[in-house]
Amino acid sequence: MTGTYSIQQDLPTPAPRQAPSQLAHAVSDDGTLGLIMELSGKLQTTLELETLIELFAQVMHSQFHYDSLNYCSSDAESDISYGKRRARNRLDYDLKVLDSDLGVISITRGRRFSESEISQIENLLAALLYPLRNALLYQTAIQSAFLDSLTGVKNRTAFDANFSREIEFNRRKQTDLSLIVMDIDFFKRINDQYGHAVGDQVLEAVANTVEQTIRSSDALYRYGGEEFVVVLNGTDMDGAKLLAERIRENIEKLRIKSLKDIAITLSLGVTVLREDDTAQTLFERADAALYSAKTNGRNQVVSDE
Ligand code: GH3
Ligand code: MG
Ligand code: MG
Repeated sequence: MTGTYSIQQDLPTPAPRQAPSQLAHAVSDDGTLGLIMELSGKLQTTLELETLIELFAQVMHSQFHYDSLNYCSSDAESDISYGKRRARNRLDYDLKVLDSDLGVISITRGRRFSESEISQIENLLAALLYPLRNALLYQTAIQSAFLDSLTGVKNRTAFDANFSREIEFNRRKQTDLSLIVMDIDFFKRINDQYGHAVGDQVLEAVANTVEQTIRSSDALYRYGGEEFVVVLNGTDMDGAKLLAERIRENIEKLRIKSLKDIAITLSLGVTVLREDDTAQTLFERADAALYSAKTNGRNQVVSDE
């Protein structure tokens, strides 16, 4: 492992140390080898980041009785903590394998860490590195499988994976769940007149505008070609209609240079979850409302009220 670490014992007098280029210390017969074997065996059982850090935290706690252990990675948008009390003695490790940044682990304890404990901890960290890198790669792969590569919003696979769960969640919480299905009007003409690349730009700009119009608790998906879906948690029919109308207006105002200032329009169908709905019946109602918006003349919101 290459990386940096700093050690602060009995604050406020920090004692930063030079990072070793190789973290694996000679393993003595103080029981560390057994612990490393136990840890390595456990870490091999999962690719899930949270589970991996939890297993590491458990083994660490069994040996060092820390007060807190925190793993943080801004790249992986992850911040996992065990133990609430941040004690005064603290070890910080910046984890790196070759050039990839794996995040930072901080361990705190009321009692000082002895030199031999520090070297044991570093051996355990060395055993964590490659499983951690694999877990981060796995997380990236899973995340990208659920994202649309053109627009960056969630894709149909993500919708299929999430939608039924969202419905169950809202039923348990007894809140409203609404659905907006929308489709770009005469999109084929845009492709035909300006080319596929401009069509792609339009899709990106539409996704971006819708994303900026909704709240962070709402989820936008690219359902297919030029069709998008927004799932609104805790929003009733009136709220959903208002939002759909705001989306319609914002798209109508959107201007794309390559389209020579021609307006793009959307048709939108809105519905709200009913007691006897399945994911399929809910979606079909929104889609039927969208169909009505198309046949009524496009560039409009239709609800199934
Ligand atoms: P309507 O108002 O009835 O929705 O008409 P429309 O022309 O939008 O509908 P239609 O379903 O006939 O056309 C959709 C077009 O979307 C056809 C397809 O080539 C295009 N399309 C689908 N995915 C993509 C994509 O990723 N990029 C581009 N540029 N075009 C796409
Ligand atoms: Mg269309
Ligand atoms: Mg369509």
